[in-house]
Amino acid sequence: MATTEERPLFSFGIIADVQYGDLDDAMNFTQTKKRYYRNALYLLREAVQHWKEENRIQFVLQLGDIIDGFNTRRKNSENALQAVLKEFQGVPFGLHHIWGNHEFYNFSRSYLMKSPLFTGPESQDIASNLKEVVKKEADAVYYDFSPYNGYRFVILDNYDISMCGIGRDKDSPQYKKAGEILRQMNKNEELNSPDGLFGVDRRFVLFNGGMGEEQLQWLRETLEVARQRGEKVVISGHVPVHPNSCYVMCLLWNYQDVLNILQDFSDVVLAYFSGHDHGGGYHFDSGNEIHHVTLPGVIEVPPGSNAFGTVDVFSDRLVMHGVGQLESRVMK
Ligand SMILES: [Zn+2]
Repeated sequence: MATTEERPLFSFGIIADVQYGDLDDAMNFTQTKKRYYRNALYLLREAVQHWKEENRIQFVLQLGDIIDGFNTRRKNSENALQAVLKEFQGVPFGLHHIWGNHEFYNFSRSYLMKSPLFTGPESQDIASNLKEVVKKEADAVYYDFSPYNGYRFVILDNYDISMCGIGRDKDSPQYKKAGEILRQMNKNEELNSPDGLFGVDRRFVLFNGGMGEEQLQWLRETLEVARQRGEKVVISGHVPVHPNSCYVMCLLWNYQDVLNILQDFSDVVLAYFSGHDHGGGYHFDSGNEIHHVTLPGVIEVPPGSNAFGTVDVFSDRLVMHGVGQLESRVMK
């Protein structure tokens, strides 16, 4: 008789959309939910403390939007970034920071590449090689790593093709391409508005983005290598890619391209973790048995609760222990 393992092979932490700012609480754009800008920092602190006490996670996937775009109004972006980074100082686990739209409201890609929010594999050498940084600015930041034998994590750059904030240079091909895509689909003067768009077309708004051909090709190749090695893969990006795992207004522009790849590698891919839609969501794609988890945003969690979790990886399942608004779940 097969025995069920009691101890996980390894564990990791997850948290999304902290969106800290030294700002008074305020309603969101659609006036439906309150945002607790200062409290978000305490919720992050509580999450880090929780992971320290649990003493079993190997790394944290910070799914993006760690500080809020409104910090720019008070020219406070760098202070806000320092404040959130301080919470991670000296932690006994690794960090993988994903970039969301709010990173790009505050910072350019070249700034981010040189900041602690860049956790790609070359992050160690980057400071000593400025030429490489300049070259890399043109690229998207996506990478993979293996925290445990037989398992691989893939970090995507969902804002590769984007016009968000000051992320991409206005002369870059990616910025121009984003403009073409958006203006073709969205006729509003305010491109953050989905007015006049229906169904999944509501995703064609400024605060979303897309993934370029090169990155999609890289994803295919990475999954192919994982397949050959017999590895299982968990994918993460700031933006959801399944229409049933979020409000369609929060979907990746070319989500279908990513879903097609996941379909082709359904024997390899276990789950896709994202943030961006503060309401959170979950969908199990029974066709290919891939779990799509959208984490609730910390910024909209009222004081007294929280929204983060620890995922235990077993050979036959992922067990997500949610705290506060993140639901716990066993994913086979
Ligand atoms: Zn976002």
